[in-house]
Amino acid sequence: MSVGANLNSIKSSLPQGVRLVAVTKTKPAEIIMEAYNSGHRVFGENRVQELIAKKNILPADIEWHLIGHLQSNKVKYIVPFISLIESVDSYRLLKLIDKEAVKAGRIVDCLMQIHIASEDTKYGFGMPEIREMFEDSEFNTLTNIRLRGVMGMASLTSDLARVRSEFRQLRKWFEEIKENYIVGDKGEFNEISMGMSDDYRIALEEGSTIVRIGSLIFGER
Ligand SMILES: *Cc1c(COP(=O)(O)O)cnc(C)c1O
Repeated sequence: MSVGANLNSIKSSLPQGVRLVAVTKTKPAEIIMEAYNSGHRVFGENRVQELIAKKNILPADIEWHLIGHLQSNKVKYIVPFISLIESVDSYRLLKLIDKEAVKAGRIVDCLMQIHIASEDTKYGFGMPEIREMFEDSEFNTLTNIRLRGVMGMASLTSDLARVRSEFRQLRKWFEEIKENYIVGDKGEFNEISMGMSDDYRIALEEGSTIVRIGSLIFGER
């Protein structure tokens, strides 16, 4: 199967309104161009350096999502162009993104990455930290970030019941945040990014609005 055919077969299985991020980490520009030429425009990378190297040689109308941990010293490189930072994993990082977004004169869309997996190697907010963030008086002074929702990664396990319950938990937390902390236009807080090649079908059943898929499109890494 070609990249374009893989993309089309996944897209045709997505409920209406769900977006597909084609995850291109480790894949060369020529393969990304195959996806682009089949009409796809939304791509995700997990490392800033690789993302920028690819952005510089690929078409300008690609929407880039950052899906991996963002180090403080790299924030300034992506803020000027990134479409969505899916992996904001601390309040400190969110404040830094806001600061750089002010300098760049942009509003930067962000998701809060929440820790749902049982492995503790993965980055992400815990819910107590999220509640603290929203209750901090400084939070309301952040003018140039726009929180659009949450992102999470389930445990790497063959226990599908566990994967499902982690996705369900993420959805519950999304609802809790939206209800208790999002003021103003709650309609802008509407994204739940969950689901990868091996678990996106479960994620969709649990209410995912963004799936991030790499190997199913481009082959194993
Ligand atoms: C690599 C990666 C994906 C895609 O993984 P596949 O199993 O190749 O679909 C999704 N999300 C994140 C955060 C990733 O790092």
